Amino acid sequence: MNIIQILNKDNLDFKDICTLLSLSNSSDIELLRQKAENVLLDYVGNNVSIRGLIEFSNYCVCDCLYCGIRKSNLNVTRFRLSEEEVLSCVDWAIEKNIGSVVLQSGECRDKETIKYITQLIKLIKKRSISTALPNGLGITLSVGEQTFDTYKSFFDAGAHRYLLRIETTNQKLFSEIHPNYQLFSKRLECLESIKKIGFQLGTGVMIGLPNQTIEDLANDLLFFKELDVDMVGMGPFIPHNQTPFAKADIDKKTNFLLGLKMISVLRLLMKDINIASTTALETLSPKGRMLGLMHGANVIMPQLTPVDYKNKYILYDDKPDIDEQKESIFGKLKINLNNINRNISFNQWGDSLHFKNKNRKQ
Ligand code: SAH
Repeated sequence: MNIIQILNKDNLDFKDICTLLSLSNSSDIELLRQKAENVLLDYVGNNVSIRGLIEFSNYCVCDCLYCGIRKSNLNVTRFRLSEEEVLSCVDWAIEKNIGSVVLQSGECRDKETIKYITQLIKLIKKRSISTALPNGLGITLSVGEQTFDTYKSFFDAGAHRYLLRIETTNQKLFSEIHPNYQLFSKRLECLESIKKIGFQLGTGVMIGLPNQTIEDLANDLLFFKELDVDMVGMGPFIPHNQTPFAKADIDKKTNFLLGLKMISVLRLLMKDINIASTTALETLSPKGRMLGLMHGANVIMPQLTPVDYKNKYILYDDKPDIDEQKESIFGKLKINLNNINRNISFNQWGDSLHFKNKNRKQ
């Protein structure tokens, strides 16, 4: 079967997905990109949803072998933003008509942290209700593995979307990149809890991990479909110099292209979900995030984290914009989006259409 025939199929199977992810000829990749862009415009439209990303703490009890803020990295100066500091980011988002925020951090499960996060969600909600945002800001959480009850208390406090990446669905690979007490089965259990509670569920993987194959990535995409997720954030794996993967032998150009192809194929597989164009893409190419959007993504998460803390939240080397103020990041983003003819959704939560469509069917 040639590429056009595959692209015109209603349901891509494992073999088709592997073929598409293996494309190396630029005109073939362009055909894939165009198809994904058409599906995006038909099902989701031209609007890009924005979420202001607030990386509020780098304390972490996990020791993921790839991550710069793993607990064993003693070079990291640990911080947690005060409530006032978070709220000042939130006020800025409101002023700029950014309709939703993502609260992300390293993983902590102690009572005090859970109370702090729950309180933050309530404060953000209370503060952001206005005529423009009658239900306040949309709040997405990305604070790792928690108990069912903790997830429920975050949901009851007002958060409504949750991101927890599976990182890879190859269980052997998962165990190679995590310490043995961090379990794949636990991650799955958390994803099920998040879904059951009623959050819009987001997951994702790293692309181009050492020993990861095209088949693994094809399985990752099929896993997203099987789990029926509402949102996906995935990006190339990039080594961090203070981790066991510092010297991992990876090809940045291949991983970047693979990142774009993963977005396009996922758009064909799950037409109405939210797909983020991630910062890791931008690390490997100056126009990475715009290219992600042009390959089928519809969400972008500009950082609102205060500059003084950004250099302490380094998950991988060469993270872009770490010295840049949010004003300048947001200004450039607007220009760049305009240049690729995409609109920004202001004062919108930008919920996953997939989630809405799913609930309508029930
Ligand atoms: N503690 C939260 C947030 C983690 S950071 C959680 O566990 O969900 C968000 C994501 O950054 C991770 O899920 C991982 O996929 C990604 N990440 C971490 N280190 C990375 C690296 N070296 N290269 C690329 N992505 C990385």
